[in-house]
Amino acid sequence: MATLVTGGTGYIGSHTVVELLGAGKDVVILDNFYNSSPKVLPRIAELAGRAPAFEECDIRDRAGLDRIFETYKIDSVIHFAGLKAVGESCEKPLLYYENNIGGTVTLCEAMAAHGCKNIVFSSSATVYGSGNVSPLREDMPVGGTTNPYGTTKYYIEHILEDTAAADKDWHVCLLRYFNPIGAHKSGRIGEMPNGIPNNLLPYITQVAAGKLDHLNIYGNDYNTPDGTGVRDYIHVVDLALGHLKAMDYTADHAGVSIFNLGTGKGYSVLEIVAAFEKASGVKIPYEFAPRRPGDLDSVYSDPSKAERVLGWKAERGIDEMCADSYRWQHQNPNGYED
Ligand code: NAD
Ligand code: UDP
Repeated sequence: MATLVTGGTGYIGSHTVVELLGAGKDVVILDNFYNSSPKVLPRIAELAGRAPAFEECDIRDRAGLDRIFETYKIDSVIHFAGLKAVGESCEKPLLYYENNIGGTVTLCEAMAAHGCKNIVFSSSATVYGSGNVSPLREDMPVGGTTNPYGTTKYYIEHILEDTAAADKDWHVCLLRYFNPIGAHKSGRIGEMPNGIPNNLLPYITQVAAGKLDHLNIYGNDYNTPDGTGVRDYIHVVDLALGHLKAMDYTADHAGVSIFNLGTGKGYSVLEIVAAFEKASGVKIPYEFAPRRPGDLDSVYSDPSKAERVLGWKAERGIDEMCADSYRWQHQNPNGYED
């Protein structure tokens, strides 16, 4: 039996596929390359020692999904496919609702039609909105999202919960990721740069590479120890390993399970700059800039449920995250185009 990994050529998906293959699982990747490159596929095979099956397909394409379920014996789905740029989601909300929500509904319909009712979904800490105080726990209220991207995650959680409530055969796992950074230790796979990055680490690595002049730090008057925003950064390989634990758990548990995947430790922007400089030996010039709309002071997880229930805990620290981000950028200045 194989696991279908939607969005499996993307940043988190590619790292997860390497770990799945390494653990002896059979994998079928589905992706439309909207935000990824076919060139990741031979690198996944190189790292894992064998190739996953691959199907170029869109999660909104019901006939394409049916063909995939008919071709392979698929008993579980890890669903990464989606658009994730917060700023773009504010400019093109309908694209985000159609792709992320419409795509997930079509995927679930195809799954149900083929008797596969086991799904692990990539949700986000953004579903906790602005109304909760960190450390964030899975039993806190969700909602109050501040952009269409975040709202798609909130709605999809609801849709999957309703689906599982209506049909007891569904096994659903909602994984709420905090801030994934880093890359595979080999430097062969990582986050593909796409225009000017919005997120902190890709921006810093491009400053380090000389592609961008300096980092703008959005706000130095937050209610945090040094005034800059605090987030819970997690190594993408730790995150990938969390999916393997979640998949095994979900296979045995009907209904909906929810887990935070974070480290539980928050770092400020200035602490990340210092850690990156130490790991890379490169100075990162920065300037303080106004706060970015929608940003919160401090967002970090209580990851204890995942440790207690799944037996999973993030192992890689901030120095390793920064060193691995830098290695990937340094070895592949233009991502998979190199
Ligand atoms: P990514 O953009 O690197 O990967 C997503 C993949 O999905 C890409 O390969 C893209 O081509 C594919 N895709 C998008 N729409 C598709 C469609 N309609 N049909 C088929 N393929 C499609 O992003 P990522 O960082 O790997 O994120 C994976 C998932 O995790 C996303 O759902 C994202 O929202 C979620 N997430 C990411 C973060 C983060 O900071 N990276 C944080 C929380 C949650
Ligand atoms: N940030 C920053 N400059 C940037 C990008 C991000 O100062 O160019 C800050 C941002 O304000 C936040 C932290 O870095 O405090 C993490 O931002 P990111 O966009 O990576 O993640 P998110 O806001 O989704 O947690």
